[in-house]
Amino acid sequence: MIIDLSNAKIGDLIPVSGEEILSDELLDREGRFTAPVKVSVDVVLISESEAAVTGEIEYGIHTYCDKCGEECEYVYKAKLGASFSGSGEEDTYPFGGMEIDLSKAIQDCVILDLPTKVLCKEDCAGLCPICGTNLNVKQCKCKESAEDESNPFAALRQLDFSGGAE
Ligand SMILES: [Zn+2]
Ligand SMILES: [Zn+2]
Repeated sequence: MIIDLSNAKIGDLIPVSGEEILSDELLDREGRFTAPVKVSVDVVLISESEAAVTGEIEYGIHTYCDKCGEECEYVYKAKLGASFSGSGEEDTYPFGGMEIDLSKAIQDCVILDLPTKVLCKEDCAGLCPICGTNLNVKQCKCKESAEDESNPFAALRQLDFSGGAE
């Protein structure tokens, strides 16, 4: 996303909005971006060789729950702040004086913002580690029987204490 600053005056606040298409490879997990990133920023030309960008981006992903593997889709918003400099200062993006290319800044912003963990819902119950049943959908019997085996008193449950009261 190129922003033309050739007519900008120093100190002007220039509102810019647009879209940026990102490669799904940026998504460090199985899935894809659902739409181009929406970009809404203000650009300020600070000097002839410096510009600053602040604003917001919005992006959506289609991916799979980390616990149960079900498909899920989310939209995220992130703050974008970037400095552009013609003198190649640290933590700045290159600026030739006429235009800035916001693409790298948008990419970096999304990479930093991407969630490390995605769940289909906050209290996703996940899959049973023994039989693989999706515990959001139905309950299996694995947990009960595993508890029984490890409990030395489990056998007592089989005994009948109700008799003998004549
Ligand atoms: Zn889930
Ligand atoms: Zn199970």
